[in-house]
Amino acid sequence: MKKLLTVLAALCIVLLTACGPGERVFSTGNSEPMTRNLYAMNTFMTLTAYGSKADGALALAAARINDLESRLSATADSSQVAKLNLTGSGQLDDELIALLRRCMELQELTGGALRPDLYRLTALWGFTTGDYRIPSDAEIEAVLEGLRGENPVVINGNTVTLGAVSIDFGAVGKGYASQQAAETLKSNGVTSALLSLGGNIQTVGLKPNGAMWRVGIQSPWDTSATAGVLTVGETAVITSGGYQRYFEEDGISYIHIMDPETGRPVENDLASVTIVAPDGTMADAFSTALFVMGREGAVQFWREHSSDFQAVLILKDGSILVTEGLKESFSGGTFETITR
Ligand code: AMP
Ligand code: MG
Repeated sequence: MKKLLTVLAALCIVLLTACGPGERVFSTGNSEPMTRNLYAMNTFMTLTAYGSKADGALALAAARINDLESRLSATADSSQVAKLNLTGSGQLDDELIALLRRCMELQELTGGALRPDLYRLTALWGFTTGDYRIPSDAEIEAVLEGLRGENPVVINGNTVTLGAVSIDFGAVGKGYASQQAAETLKSNGVTSALLSLGGNIQTVGLKPNGAMWRVGIQSPWDTSATAGVLTVGETAVITSGGYQRYFEEDGISYIHIMDPETGRPVENDLASVTIVAPDGTMADAFSTALFVMGREGAVQFWREHSSDFQAVLILKDGSILVTEGLKESFSGGTFETITR
């Protein structure tokens, strides 16, 4: 049953990805879209690009995503991250070291709401295998001790030394990958593209006819419906939500986003957080971190960093909060504007 729920949730995301208003690609007559589908990072991805260079560039973008996954996925046994996690000390290549450093900066910036080293926690609750379970307090406490340790992650050149923690790029991997795929498309002559990596959208340029993109935000309660639509230019639009992956036991939902303070799945007033930012890694990191913070913390965090990103918060009571910078871009639902 638990597995079934996850599969259904994943399928619904895919359906929205394929059919949601924001992600539907309309032919303009100027240029037919080329589309490439792939399954990577536990996600069905659809890469769409326009123009005469689209086909070749899409193949390179897909290869870039597959290559990244093979290096940074903690669950792929042969990846650099999996090997590091196994031994507690090892080398990462330059790109992964840069990504890890970036994650640690974002950890600092988010006051520890983002923890790129909480793999043992997600594993403990079964999210890494799908064998979900509720751990004992003692098991949770043992993992928390590692997270509370002094300098749990030490980087020296390309060598990483871990305390009693393991690395998990799950909260940023897709945002980073979509940003890199967009760069690959651009450097191979594509000026218009829309990349859909599950709940993560990255656009390149504008539509071929010069119009903005329309990106649907999934309803947390009916994943085949949208809670609103964002009209955007070139940007990342990334959503985190408990509905994307969870299991239920005795009528209680346990979601895949962990509170690093309690060692338990987040339980607060938020149903989803969507971040709009030029930087995909930051957008993905913040979607997860703001989800952990809850409404009040998320709004306060946005006020302190409002020049870096904008957000749409969907609360469990159904209300929608939209930060000031998106109030003209958001349509399709009643919302309250968050001002600075
Ligand atoms: P996202 O869907 O971007 O919100 O990322 C969720 C994934 O990131 C989870 O499946 C875990 O692999 C990992 N994760 C969960 N909680 C956290 C957290 N507080 N900080 C960093 N990574 C997390
Ligand atoms: Mg994220």
